[in-house]
Parts: sequence; C-alpha cells; structure tokens
Amino acid sequence: MVYRFLCDATVIKLAKWMRFLGIDTSIAHEYKTKALLDLAKKENRIILTRNRRFLKIKSENIHVLKSDFLFEELREVIMTFRIKHPAILTRCSKCNTVLLDIEKEKVKGKVPYFTFKHHNEFKFCPVCNKIYWKGSHINLMIERLKKEEIWELLF
Ligand SMILES: [Zn+2]
Repeated sequence: MVYRFLCDATVIKLAKWMRFLGIDTSIAHEYKTKALLDLAKKENRIILTRNRRFLKIKSENIHVLKSDFLFEELREVIMTFRIKHPAILTRCSKCNTVLLDIEKEKVKGKVPYFTFKHHNEFKFCPVCNKIYWKGSHINLMIERLKKEEIWELLF
C-alpha cells in the first residue's frame, strides 16, 4: 500500500527527507486542527505531527510521532507504514511535485558549470523549476541515512 502524508508545521524537516525518498508528503502550515483534518481527508493523506493534542482525536488518519529527533521520526514513519523501496529523487523537495526528466542541453547555464560537465542526467520540477541531479549532496544524504541505520530498512 502506498500512503500519502501530510506533515504539519511541527515536522517540516521530516517532510523534506520524506520527499527526498520519493514519499508523497505535503506540508500544511495551517495550525487549526479542523482545517488540517479536512485537508487530510480531502487529499486522502495521513497527518504526521508531534503535536500531542492530536492524541485526543480518534482517527486512523493521524499519526502522532513519539520522538523529537528527526531521524527517529523518519525511522518511525518507515516502520509504522512499512515503507519499502521508495523511489529516491522523484519528488521536488521544495513543493512535492513529481520530477520530470530534462535534456542535458536544456539545463546549460542553469546549473553550475562543473555540475553540467560531470553529470548527464537531470530532472526538474515543472512547478517551481528547480533542477535536480545526483550530485555529492545526494550521496551525503544517502550516507546520512546509512549512518542512522535507516537505509537498510528501505532497501
Ligand atoms: Zn518544486
């Protein structure tokens, strides 16, 4: 089962890492409980939050995270929802949109020269136009997930 998530303002960093992993995760900056619940229902998403006031609400679509630490939160989400083999680098970390392939020639002048020279595969976000490639920053994120023993849960 592929879950979709809605992170509230208490877990924005978590949302960014989930997007990096390719997990469909939107962010709601809305604090009002009712609005958040309505949005989650409308978009068929599970609310992720650290806000304990949600513990009082009986709904299958709310998951109140136990930890206050980013990588423990991520581990908790992956284990609770049994996430396996996510498609890394398929979503925009800024806006959650699915990334599209873009020809190398078209990113010329839009990415650093070194990057252009050493990479052949690029993707872009059709909404915010951010360009992505599998550079050293991606490797650093993967290394971090390995160090936190999260990578082995996924692959
Ligand atoms: Zn975007």
